Amino acid sequence: MRNILLLGGTGSVGSSSLQVIQENRNEFCLYGISFDRNVDKAFQIIKEFSPNYAHTNNEEAAKKLNEKCKDFDTQIIFGKNELQNLIINDDIDIIISAISGFAGLETTISAAKTGKTILLANKESIVVAGDILMPLASSFNTLIIPVDSEHNAIHQCLASCNDHKDISKVIITASGGPFLGKSINDLDAVTLDQALNHPNWSMGSKISIDSATLVNKCLELIEARYLFNLHESFFDLVIHPQSIIHSVVTYTDGSSIAHMSNPNMSVPIANALSNNRKIPIQFNPMDFSDLNLSFKAFPKDRLFLERMARDVCNEGGLTGTIFNAANEVAVSSFLNGDIKFSDIYSVLKRTFDIKEMSKKVELESIYEMDKETRKRAKKVIESLT
Ligand code: NDP
Ligand code: MG
Repeated sequence: MRNILLLGGTGSVGSSSLQVIQENRNEFCLYGISFDRNVDKAFQIIKEFSPNYAHTNNEEAAKKLNEKCKDFDTQIIFGKNELQNLIINDDIDIIISAISGFAGLETTISAAKTGKTILLANKESIVVAGDILMPLASSFNTLIIPVDSEHNAIHQCLASCNDHKDISKVIITASGGPFLGKSINDLDAVTLDQALNHPNWSMGSKISIDSATLVNKCLELIEARYLFNLHESFFDLVIHPQSIIHSVVTYTDGSSIAHMSNPNMSVPIANALSNNRKIPIQFNPMDFSDLNLSFKAFPKDRLFLERMARDVCNEGGLTGTIFNAANEVAVSSFLNGDIKFSDIYSVLKRTFDIKEMSKKVELESIYEMDKETRKRAKKVIESLT
């Protein structure tokens, strides 16, 4: 039996993870969850899975959940130290990092020091701190398995690769999101509901907006560069509206291995949980007699975003932190109704600053730069409104 700590248990990746655990109870046990303020969802999870611990940093949420759980065995814990102790608890084998945004950095770094297995969904932590996270994990013998569908697909396509020298190209596919085919000039008046309405995936609000702007694919390019330790020039971003092929690795002998499934996060999660074995889950089989797959180039009017991501890959330093913080502030302002959808691009363009490349990457400097960039992005937003 493998004990699992699910960070971000009440979210979208959290729900898919719970589904896979539920379907494989003979192998996996939910040992603990963390959440932020969704007490009702946390309570549902406790009723269904009886984890040993449920953690939040939100005092009010902890009190409310404690009230509800008086007759349950689950211990409700609160505060940073308590979470730290849970992460290093020897009974835990697998940590799923599925908190959204920069808020997931601290726990991902702590998990990297445990020597356990991390299932990484929180792409923002690797975008801002890939230079720290990857060496840290390797020095503690911590295994990082990607959960992001494209990266898990690459992970599977590389299973038979003995030498990185054999890789010629890696294609990361993008659905194109709800505004597929629209030019950037058509995006001025789109609404929040339209932007959240992803055609293929049901996800949390932040990543849904990132998919709509196509910034998600740029974060994923940076994520891939660190996870697979390949130069950015190996990666191509390609639009594939059906989200059936999640990534393709082309080898030097001209053969390509693609990973395909219907879009369903349970598929990469099952692969990651079992570390490349095949475990049973419920899925919709693909109908190969009626499968139309199409591909096209990343839209030209969004190439400036791709260039920013490639700059981050090449320059390193704190550029990933700046890219991520500017985007998080812009997305949260759009979600709050403070700016238009197309303003997200303006905030990114006007906040991103490549000059910070020379600064040394330490956790402290990442937190400082994150704070500074958020202030800068908010000023840009004030000037827009
Ligand atoms: P959701 O918004 O659905 O869930 C986020 C989770 O994190 C919730 O459990 C939430 O708690 C918790 N959380 C949010 N803020 C904090 C905080 N400050 N401190 C502690 N916990 C917090 O996000 P998703 O599940 O969609 O995404 C999670 C991560 O996985 C992201 O990094 C995303 O990019 C990545 N990812 C997601 C995919 C998807 O299909 N959804 C696919 C690939 C990657 P509460 O519910 O209480 O607010
Ligand atoms: Mg993805």
